[in-house]
This record gives sequence, structure tokens and C-alpha cells, in this order.
Amino acid sequence: MDMRFQQLSSPAGVMSRIPLAALDYHRNRDRKVGRGMNLAEFDKIVGGHISDTVKETDSRYEAERKLLLKELSEEGFMDAVAIHEAGHAHYYTEAGGSEFQFFPPIILFRRDNTRKPFKKQTACIKVGKFSPNQADPIWLLKVAKGYAAGGECSIRLPALCRYRGDTTDRPLWDEACRAAYRESSLPTTQINALAESMWKDAQKKVRAELIASDALQAQIINRAKEIKVQLFPWTASR
Ligand SMILES: [Zn+2]
Repeated sequence: MDMRFQQLSSPAGVMSRIPLAALDYHRNRDRKVGRGMNLAEFDKIVGGHISDTVKETDSRYEAERKLLLKELSEEGFMDAVAIHEAGHAHYYTEAGGSEFQFFPPIILFRRDNTRKPFKKQTACIKVGKFSPNQADPIWLLKVAKGYAAGGECSIRLPALCRYRGDTTDRPLWDEACRAAYRESSLPTTQINALAESMWKDAQKKVRAELIASDALQAQIINRAKEIKVQLFPWTASR
């Protein structure tokens, strides 16, 4: 089964090549939005893979960086994002996923996108292994719940900030669903309709499960605490 999950192209490899001397040029900016954050560390994480020359000459990088910084400075935002990723992790596990990795925010550089080369990515979970139990008649719905759980957990569990963060989860689910039906004889329109109805069903089921179980809520909140320091390493070092 060809099932793809959201992936980031090798940030770990990129991270180890960060030129340390390049990180200080933002030092005295952003006093207001970045209050309480270690900006040198923040810049190392979100833009360490982009050259100084590009940063200094292309204002579109700085604009995107500012947006990300503003978002992350909002009270409760990082907790809400960690809850979102913890929701994915819990439900991907139920669908047969394991060996998760969590990646901090980054400004993506999209070489081929000349209109908008820089794009902030707030957080990312990578599913290392995926072994769905295809004997289970609802295995694909479980996968849909994995994709839908991020947004549902963010808005259902207590957080100081309103955040859903699932605008890319929906198209990723559509892609996964199409991949699952790739070898079937179903027409595309029917597969799209299935993806749509399974997404709604998945949201409804995750929501109902969260409402019904305080233990599940507590489990996801505790997982979010562990994940938060992986997603936002500068919060751990202060
Ligand atoms: Zn998500």
C-alpha cells in the first residue's frame, strides 16, 4: 500500500550544516513580537538552511519570518500546535503508524515557486513506519482520523489560543485516499466523494471520542508537553 504522509525534506541533515556565524544579524530587531524568545536560536532553527545573502537581499524571506515570529509570540500558540501534533500522533498510532519525528518551524525555500519562494511551516510530524492492519474493515477511516485529529484536538482541548492548523492536512488526506484507491476501478469523482465523506466522518468520530473521554484528553495533553520541546527547542533551553 502506497501511503504517503506529510514529510519534510531532511531538515536534520540541513541543521547540522548551519553556519553559526550567520545567525546574529537579526539580533536587535523584533523586540516587541519576539519578546521572551531567544531570537538567535529561533533564527538558527527557522532559517539556518537559507544563506545570509538571500536573507539580506530578499525581503520576502524577512516578511515570512516576521509572520512566523508573530504567530509564535501569541500566547498559547505553541501549546496549541503541540496539542495538534499530539492529536496526529495518537490517531496515527491507532492507524498503524510508529516512529514519529517532530520538526520545529521552518521557512521553506521553494526554488520552483517564483511567485512565493518562501513559506513558513509551523510544525511537522513525520511518520517513520506505517503498517496498517488491512484486515480491519475500517483501517482507512483510522488513517483519515489521523489526518483529521490535529485540527480537532487543537480546537477541542483547552488552549489559550484559537488554532486549527489543518489547512494542509485536508489535501494531504485527499492524496493519501487517492493513493489507497489507486489500483481500484473506481472513477476519480467517486474517490473524491469518498475522501470527502470519510474526512467528515473522521472529524466527527475524533470529536465524539474526545468529548466522551477525559482520559484520552489527558493522554493527548501529556503527549503534547513532551512534543512541545521537540517542536520548539528554544522553550526548553530557557
Ligand atoms: Zn496537522
